[in-house]
Amino acid sequence: MMPYDYDLLVIGAGSGGTRAARVAAQHGARVAVAEEYRVGGTCVIRGCVPKKLLVYGAHFAEDLKDAKRFGWDVPDACHFDWPRLRDNVLAEVDRLNGAYTDTLTNNGVEIILQRAEVTGPNTVRLADGQEKTAERILLAVGAHPAIPDCPGNEHGITSNEAFHLDAIPRRILIAGAGYIANEFAGIFHQFGAHVIVMNRTQEILRGYELALRDRLLQISMMKGLEFRFDATFEGIAKGEDGCLTVRMSNHEPVVVDCVMFATGRVPNTRGLGLDSAGVELDGKGAVGVDADNRSTCPSIFAVGDVTNRIQLTPVAIREGQAFADTFYGGKPTRVDYSCVPSAVFSHPPIAQVGMTESEARQKLGEVKIYSSDFRPMKNVLAGRNERALYKMVCDATDRVVGIHMIGPDAPEILQGAAVAVKAGLTKAQFDETVALHPTMAEELVLLR
Ligand code: NDP
Repeated sequence: MMPYDYDLLVIGAGSGGTRAARVAAQHGARVAVAEEYRVGGTCVIRGCVPKKLLVYGAHFAEDLKDAKRFGWDVPDACHFDWPRLRDNVLAEVDRLNGAYTDTLTNNGVEIILQRAEVTGPNTVRLADGQEKTAERILLAVGAHPAIPDCPGNEHGITSNEAFHLDAIPRRILIAGAGYIANEFAGIFHQFGAHVIVMNRTQEILRGYELALRDRLLQISMMKGLEFRFDATFEGIAKGEDGCLTVRMSNHEPVVVDCVMFATGRVPNTRGLGLDSAGVELDGKGAVGVDADNRSTCPSIFAVGDVTNRIQLTPVAIREGQAFADTFYGGKPTRVDYSCVPSAVFSHPPIAQVGMTESEARQKLGEVKIYSSDFRPMKNVLAGRNERALYKMVCDATDRVVGIHMIGPDAPEILQGAAVAVKAGLTKAQFDETVALHPTMAEELVLLR
């Protein structure tokens, strides 16, 4: 008789959990995955994927304006139909939800569409009361948006709701100045909303290269976005007309139609029963794990945002793959967290890999900086006064330790360059590579 119902029970069918479940099953394990909402998780259902589709939709606003300079007759006032885009995006999400579900079932993974909570080192209880046992339990439950604690916060929305809005608000205040805030600021602005970004400090996109952050701020303000820095919520009041009056420290109140919170994400560990198995959490509620994704309970593991290491989909996927290969594939694997590239799909987008200039100065002492500050030729003909900025950080031996870019298609261009940075190539090796002309990417091999 099998001692457990499953070899592996995964809680959460997002990017990390789905990868771990599928690969473990392919390695021959008996696997189930419990999911309380929809297979696909944050990235597919209410994150990266639908967000990127909105970013594409938003870009048409500028492209349609620029089209005239490229000879196309476009009406001055193009109509944008939000419900049409929203419904098309949600239909694509449904399609992907089906594809993820099929992948799991085709690989023999049992999908349990219920919430599961841990009741011991090898047991979970499902929402319908059933108990299930597994030799190992993998927590891949992700994170949820943090809501600032202030009177009236129930009037705000998060990125979860942004994909389902009935209409684009005329005026929106976005709280936070990280990834989500800057991406949605661009999206809402291009769809015609007046956008105010409010942050508790004076910085946007903390952790990104300073010169790029300054450039994004400058371009955003030029486009008409407003910023309120050093501001914390004092209260949000809803008037009879449905408008929201937001009071904040250090600034006059503002009246908007929508408030969106984008102030970080909190690991989904509350109420998960982790105490019952001795799984320890860090100060932010994240599951503490070792390099093999093992928690303080030897039979319980965790991958993805719930561990609060690097909250990025491709990292969660690697962690899930490493876990499955290590414990079910006979191939011990650990994720290498160095040189993880990242991007912000703002307008224009930012992409980076490796160390910023200030990080490199702190860690390496002597550094060499190369940059290119240029107006992409498409922007020149379009009459768009928006400059791109590429910056390369090298160590004393000229090895490239960081690349930072803001400009059209920066994330698409950076992925290839990230391979070179990860491989430890030098500035001279970049320069030996013949430019691909005329492109924006060629600036990477022409930096001075
Ligand atoms: P971020 O961590 O990027 O930004 C959070 C912002 O909210 C910061 O500006 C921060 O201010 C502010 N903030 C944090 N805590 C509070 C608080 N208690 N009260 C008020 N303001 C606060 O979080 P996001 O919510 O934008 O995104 C969550 C995560 O999702 C990201 O870390 C990222 O890993 C991932 N993500 C990745 C994307 C991508 O890869 N393109 C896209 C979207 C999300 P300050 O920094 O000034 O202290």
